[in-house]
Amino acid sequence: MNILVTGGAGYIGSHTCVEAIKAGHAVTVFDNLCNASAESLNRVAAITGTRPDFIQADLLDRAAVKAAFDAKAYDAVIHFAGLKAVGESVAKPWEYYNNNIVGSLNLFAEMRDHGVFNLVFSSSATVYGNPEKVPLAEGAPLSALNPYGRTKLWIEDMLRDMAAAEPRWHIVLLRYFNPVGAHESGLIGEDPGGIPNNLMPYITQVAVGRLKELSIFGDDYPTRDGTCIRDYIHVCDLAEGHLCALASLDKLQGCTPVNLGTGNGFTVLELVRSFEKAVGRPLPRRIAPRRPGDAVASYADATRAAALLGWKAKRGIDAICRDAWNWQSKNPRGYRP
Ligand code: NAD
Ligand code: UDP
Repeated sequence: MNILVTGGAGYIGSHTCVEAIKAGHAVTVFDNLCNASAESLNRVAAITGTRPDFIQADLLDRAAVKAAFDAKAYDAVIHFAGLKAVGESVAKPWEYYNNNIVGSLNLFAEMRDHGVFNLVFSSSATVYGNPEKVPLAEGAPLSALNPYGRTKLWIEDMLRDMAAAEPRWHIVLLRYFNPVGAHESGLIGEDPGGIPNNLMPYITQVAVGRLKELSIFGDDYPTRDGTCIRDYIHVCDLAEGHLCALASLDKLQGCTPVNLGTGNGFTVLELVRSFEKAVGRPLPRRIAPRRPGDAVASYADATRAAALLGWKAKRGIDAICRDAWNWQSKNPRGYRP
């Protein structure tokens, strides 16, 4: 297939480009590099032997989006591009609504105008809000806790309406749980700008000496060791999930939400201890107060992904920690030289 990958230079996008090229697809990346480095695409080329075509442009630039579709006939789009930091979205809601919503509207309009109706969209388990019960199946109630989450929910709603009005759409909404880890080559991985908000990049940066100490946000939750539970999914499993979604688009009419998670929950302390095992030493860490807004537990019911996409996560927590450490130790400053 000829695929346009928005946000393809980013963390999940670059891993998905690798899998897509390996599967024989022709890949064009559309990314404005606002949260990525073009070096990630050099690394994709180093891993696969094929350099994806690259359009450096902004989804907010409608003419640039149109030009991308004028230039090539795409069979499908994988739409990763967006801003994703929860805290930043609370501080800068307009920027999040503008970038994520207007950018997506431009993309969907040009897809429709160019007769491209196959779409895989990066949604998130954040659309389940603060879950009442776990595991989370796709039919669980949806809500948003912050502007970032609201952009995901609204884009899902827009796509549901578009698919209901126009039967030519084939859309899969992939609701990711907690993507972590890196490609086993150690050539691509997560490279957040500034101080990481998420647990795994914080751990890896403490391990490599960029940060002094890990704060564990709360050890008095009603869980087996008092720390919160999440469904950590290896980014390569996630990338493979996108390929399975692409392959299933034809048979999936309308707009279909699918969880991408392992179905297993790990506590913060369990993840930290697995990582310490991979590194071979304890990390400096302390118990800190709870982080406001954190859900006690979130993990997927991954049944639908297996049934509809034929996809199941293959890599466990040890592979996740090994690969995250391999990436961070080989690239202590990420993609920066
Ligand atoms: P990322 O920031 O590494 O990748 C996003 C990419 O989109 C970046 O390369 C950025 O430069 C690009 N981009 C942003 N706005 C753009 C615009 N207007 N025009 C063109 N390019 C633009 O993030 P990621 O972790 O790879 O996440 C990819 C997608 O998955 C995002 O939509 C994110 O919300 C979603 N998601 C991520 C997680 C996670 O924990 N990483 C969890 C659930 C969902
Ligand atoms: N967390 C932590 N210290 C950190 C970052 C995160 O203890 O420096 C905890 C956080 O409270 C949550 C879990 O790790 O319980 C996962 O957090 P993350 O932000 O990675 O994912 P999310 O909460 O968005 O699912």
